[in-house]
Amino acid sequence: MSVVYPADRRAWWLDGVALACVECGEPIELPAVYWHGATRLLLHADCAQHLGIALLQDARECDLAASPHWRRRAVATVKHRLVTEEAVVA
Ligand SMILES: [Zn+2]
Repeated sequence: MSVVYPADRRAWWLDGVALACVECGEPIELPAVYWHGATRLLLHADCAQHLGIALLQDARECDLAASPHWRRRAVATVKHRLVTEEAVVA
């Protein structure tokens, strides 16, 4: 990821890149966040932050789903939270 500035608007590496945010679909005005992976994408700064946080959360959930170690930790965390909540209510 990087940042595209207004001075980069005519850069060859922006040719064919839609000036719309891939997260919200609204038009993009530079500066904007630029992703060049298997495809090239532009995002508003706020949308990039939102997407980044969502990706991290999903990555953690995916790790939890795939790893017995993390599954045990998640169960222990939920059990602790339930016990704590019940102690507060009682
Ligand atoms: Zn956006």
